Amino acid sequence: MTDDLTRLSASDLAARLSAGEVSSVEATQAHLDRIAAVDGDLHAFLHVNARALDVAADIDRRRAAGEELGPIAGVPLAIKDVLVTTDMPSTSGSKILEGYLSPYDATVVARSRAAGLVPLGKTNMDEFAMGSSTEHSAYGPTRNPWDRERIPGGSGGGSAAAVAAFEAPLALGSDTGGSIRQPAHVTGTVGMKPTYGGVSRYGAIALASSLDQVGPVTRTVLDAGLLHDVIAGHDPHDATSLTDSWPSFADAARDGATGQVLKGLKVGVIRELPDSGFQAGVASSFRDALAAMAAQGAEIVEVSAPHFEYGVAAYYLILPAEASSNLAKFDSVRFGMRVTPHAAATVEEVMAATRDAGFGDEVKRRIILGTYALSAGYYDAYYGSAQKVRTLIQGDFDAAFAQVDVIATPSAPTTAFRFGEKIDDPLQMYLNDVTTIPANLAGVPGISIPSGLAAEDGLPVGIQFLAPAREDARLYRVGAALETLLVEEWGGPLLDRAPALPQAQGPNGGSR
Ligand code: GLN
Repeated sequence: MTDDLTRLSASDLAARLSAGEVSSVEATQAHLDRIAAVDGDLHAFLHVNARALDVAADIDRRRAAGEELGPIAGVPLAIKDVLVTTDMPSTSGSKILEGYLSPYDATVVARSRAAGLVPLGKTNMDEFAMGSSTEHSAYGPTRNPWDRERIPGGSGGGSAAAVAAFEAPLALGSDTGGSIRQPAHVTGTVGMKPTYGGVSRYGAIALASSLDQVGPVTRTVLDAGLLHDVIAGHDPHDATSLTDSWPSFADAARDGATGQVLKGLKVGVIRELPDSGFQAGVASSFRDALAAMAAQGAEIVEVSAPHFEYGVAAYYLILPAEASSNLAKFDSVRFGMRVTPHAAATVEEVMAATRDAGFGDEVKRRIILGTYALSAGYYDAYYGSAQKVRTLIQGDFDAAFAQVDVIATPSAPTTAFRFGEKIDDPLQMYLNDVTTIPANLAGVPGISIPSGLAAEDGLPVGIQFLAPAREDARLYRVGAALETLLVEEWGGPLLDRAPALPQAQGPNGGSR
C-alpha cells in the first residue's frame, strides 16, 4: 500500500475514500501538489481549478453526513479543454477562445460533477483537437512524461500526460480520429473511444460532429470503465445520442480481469495492415500481446479490411468539411476574441482579421481544405467520394465482425516522436492516425491499452481493440483480461517504469 495518494488508481482511491481512510480534500491536495511540482515543466494543464479543494470539502461533508455517494465520488478529474465548463475557461487550445467562459457545462462535465468527481483543471490540446502531438496548441506543447523531448500524442496530449504523470487519476478526452487512443498509446495509459452516440457531445466544442466522441483516459481499464459509467447514456441535448441503456463498464472490466473471456475469443488481425508500416518495437509488442492472449485460449484470425487504407484520405476530407462548417461560428461577434484592423473596418474586415489572428496554421489549413471540398463544383468528387469510402469501411467492419469478436491493431504506427519531427509535414502527421481513424468513420468503439515498451527506444506502445457498435462492454472485458496478464508478466504497471520527473521547488513550484 502506498502513502502517495497520487499513485493510486481511481478505484483504489475510491475504496479508501469510502472507507473513510482518506478525505477527498487530502486526495485533491495531493494532486494539486503534484501539479505544482511537475506541471511547470510538463504543461499538461492550461488551467488549474482554484475551487477544487472547496468541491472536495463539500464531498467530504456530504459523505460525513451519511449521504449515499457514487462509486468514485471524491476522486479528482482532469478535463480536456474542448469540454465547456462554467467555472473555468474553455479555449479548445485556441487563441480565438482565450478566456472564454461558457454559460453551461458540457453534459459529461455535469454528470462528472453529479457523480462527485472533483474537477482539477482543464488540459492542453491541439487547437480545436486538430493534431496528433499537442504541438498545435496555441498555448505551447505538452511534454511526454516518458521523455520530455517527445510529444504526448494528440490532440488530447494534456489529458494523457496528466494521467501518466500522476497529476490526475482520471481524465476526460475526445476522439474524432484517435485523440484519446493515440495519446494513450504514446504515454502508457488507457484510452477508450465509446460507440458513436454512447456519450453525449453536448458542450464538446465540435470538430467534426459525425466523428467526435467523448471518452475516458486513465491508468487502468477498470478506471476507464468507472468513468465511462458516469458519462454514458442518453442526452436529449445531443441529437445523435443513443437511447440505449448501457451495462456497467466497470463490472465488465472486473469480469474481464478473471481472464475467462480469452478462452475461445476470436481476435481479428487485419491482413491489409502489414507489419512493414510499423516501427519494429511497435510490431513486436503487438505480436507478443497476441501471443499472450493465444496462450490463454484466444484464437487469432486473419480478417480482410480492404478499405482501411483509404480511411486517412476519406477522413481528411470529411473532417475538414465538417470542421469548416463548425468553426464558422467563431466570427468575432458571438464568441471570444475580436480584432478591429482599423477604425472604419466593416464587419467582414473585422471577421477576417479576427479569424486570421485567432486561428493557427493547422486550423486555417483545414478550413481551406474543407470549404474547397464542399464547394459546388467539387462536392461530389471529394466530399461525396469520401462518404462512399466511409460506407465501404463500415462494410469492412460488418464483414470482419461476422467472423471475429474483436479486431486488434497496434494503436499507432510509432512510439512518441520528437517535437518538431512532423509539424512541418502535415501528411506525415495525418498518417499517424491510420489505425485509429477507421473506428471513427464507422462509429464503432475502440480502446487502447499499454502492451509494453518498444525495445529500440524504451517508449510505451499500445494495442487497440475494436468491437461492433454498442459492444463497448466487450472491450472492457478483453482489455482488462490482457491488462491483467501483462501487468503480472511485467511485475507491476508499465507506468512504474517511467522516469522520475523533475520537481519544482516549494509548495507552489510549477503552478501557473
Ligand atoms: N489526429 C487526428 C486529427 O488531427 C485526430 C483528432 C482527434 O481525434 N480529435 O484530426
